[in-house]
Amino acid sequence: MMILTKKMIEIRNILQRVGQSSTLTLPSIVVIGSQSSGKSSVLEAIVGHEFLPKGSNMVTRRPIELTLINTPESNVEYGEFPDLGLPKVTDFSMIQKTLTELNLAVPDSQCVSDDPIHLRIYSPNVPDLSLIDLPGYIQVVGHNQPQELKQKISELCDKYIQPPNVILAISAADVDLANSAALRASRRVDPRGERTIGVITKMDLVDPMQGARVLSDKQYPLRLGYVGVVAKVPTPTGLFKRDTGNLLATISRNENAYFSSHPLEFGQQAGVNVGTVSLRKKLMHVLEQTMSASLQTTTDAIQQELEEATYEFKVQYNDRPLSADSYLAESLDAFKHSFKQFAESFGRPQMHQILKDALDQRVLDQLAAKYWNKPFADLSVPPKELDSLADLPNADPDSLYWHRKLDASASALTKLGVGRLATTVVAAAIQSNIDKLIGQSTFARHPFARQTITEAASSILNDRFYSTSDQVENCIKPYKFEIDIEEPEWSKGQAHVGGVLKAELDHCQAAMKNLESGVAGGRRKLNEVMGFIDKARRGDIIVEGKDSRTGAGGFSAELLAKGREAVFLRDRADIINMRLMAAKSRQCKTIKNKYYCPEVFLDAVATKLAATSVLFLNVELLSEFYYQFPRELDARLGRHLSDEQIEAFAKEDPKIKRHLELIRRKELLELVLEKIDSLRQLEGRGKASRKGG
Ligand code: GDP
Repeated sequence: MMILTKKMIEIRNILQRVGQSSTLTLPSIVVIGSQSSGKSSVLEAIVGHEFLPKGSNMVTRRPIELTLINTPESNVEYGEFPDLGLPKVTDFSMIQKTLTELNLAVPDSQCVSDDPIHLRIYSPNVPDLSLIDLPGYIQVVGHNQPQELKQKISELCDKYIQPPNVILAISAADVDLANSAALRASRRVDPRGERTIGVITKMDLVDPMQGARVLSDKQYPLRLGYVGVVAKVPTPTGLFKRDTGNLLATISRNENAYFSSHPLEFGQQAGVNVGTVSLRKKLMHVLEQTMSASLQTTTDAIQQELEEATYEFKVQYNDRPLSADSYLAESLDAFKHSFKQFAESFGRPQMHQILKDALDQRVLDQLAAKYWNKPFADLSVPPKELDSLADLPNADPDSLYWHRKLDASASALTKLGVGRLATTVVAAAIQSNIDKLIGQSTFARHPFARQTITEAASSILNDRFYSTSDQVENCIKPYKFEIDIEEPEWSKGQAHVGGVLKAELDHCQAAMKNLESGVAGGRRKLNEVMGFIDKARRGDIIVEGKDSRTGAGGFSAELLAKGREAVFLRDRADIINMRLMAAKSRQCKTIKNKYYCPEVFLDAVATKLAATSVLFLNVELLSEFYYQFPRELDARLGRHLSDEQIEAFAKEDPKIKRHLELIRRKELLELVLEKIDSLRQLEGRGKASRKGG
């Protein structure tokens, strides 16, 4: 018969995982009593171990939902805290320590918490029982305890002693029953005493006659009756070693000795119920009866919940199945698919473009440094003697001066660290494309996955960085000594550099506009300052008063700085305009005039560098990345993750979380109904066999 209780307790535990709806549970035995009534002693006697927090200042702050699981085939006893994810605890003093810590974690301001601690105890020596230990009622609030404690404890107990739970009301024999807080509370919710078991502790402390009278109490009759116990371990005599494993045996030996020494009051004929063993039996019996009686109501409630969940699943999710695993797998597949599309669209031409853009900037830098150097718009620098720019259109192809200038520019370009630059810009482009892909994928809503994918990409790119950069540098090495540009390359350069110069021109003009709008008085004022700076530069005026606050010529230092920048931009724009025309001119159509047209020449050099670099970037970096990245994703987001991590990942998205929780709820409800069904069959078989026998 007891197998039914075990199964019902199992069902109760599953229901607990479904949710806290009060109808969706099976009854348990709720243990209440005043502080020091012997509540802990009784519970520990039932379990056979000391495991509850002790100490004069120890007030239980949270309910303990205690499930006892009888394991007849095993000889190990252990506890488990299913919510804490701890391993099995075989040392009961560790259970005690854990419970104490959980209690102390409730802040004083909160007094008590209604969030229960779940504890399961597996042992061949315990019956299948489901008990809830509640904080003991207190009479007087201690001086270091919060004032509301008494009230809060009472409210918490009230929540749990509601039907259909069984109330185990503990009272001490040496206190008048009329003063028993447990019985008072029970009477409020169970006035006819139909689901309360009275336990009278400390029977040894009162006169046996008086004790027996209490047990057959007529003033507060309980249908389930009273049980008298002596739940105290006898005081050790001599070399006593407390054998906690046998607590119940010790207690019941002691009890038997006491009760049997008073046969008149507690013997068979007396008609009273005494002893912890007898109490245990009563609890098992009552719990099974109560659970069985509630089973139909609970089943109806479960069915209703299941119908609602099924309906919601259909309406909201179109019956679409989902698991954290499948969600991750689908998201990963979709991401890999989008990556594949990216891989097909990003290859040598795209890398070439990116690298050429970066090199174009370096070409502009070289031109500015070596050719476009008009005397600097800085008042402290005297005008330069040679204005190489002005002479450029007449550059003498036989002059060593112009040869050296062009060679130096080209060589600066080839020696700027092309390997490093190329690898850096391409790696950055890959990384930013991956970021973009993440942003467009379902992973966008999952910070953990986002980071994992970003790291997967950067780890591959970082791994390949140095070897790629070295390889590229090596392969462009010949250009550091000699660069041959063919006519077709020259033509391409001429066509392309126009665009680069034009873009730079636009850039200058935009910066100028920006400056103008940042000066009070706008363009007119700026022109005034520029005029002043131009004069100063030509040496027409003597600059006085270099005071940084007042500046020169009556302009503030700030205005002068802006003016200098404007002069620089204007000159730069003038030069570029001029060079743009030159580069487009017929003169620059052929490589023969390369000394007149350094812009075209350097552009062609840059293209050559980019083209060669890309060949090696493709082999060393891009192909490797395309090969490794999907594998790295599988490793980091697939095989490496535990079930808990996958679950946590999926639930980062609130929509997915709701969907998953609904499915889980449905599954649990279905599981419970299945279990109830098999329970019913078992019950039916039991009845049939009893009839038959
Ligand atoms: P709780 O505060 O209700 O949990 O009470 P405890 O179980 O801690 O018991 C309070 C005190 O009463 C302890 O010192 C126990 O040893 C003692 N005690 C409990 N049951 C009995 C009993 O049946 N007889 C005697 N003499 N003392 C008991």
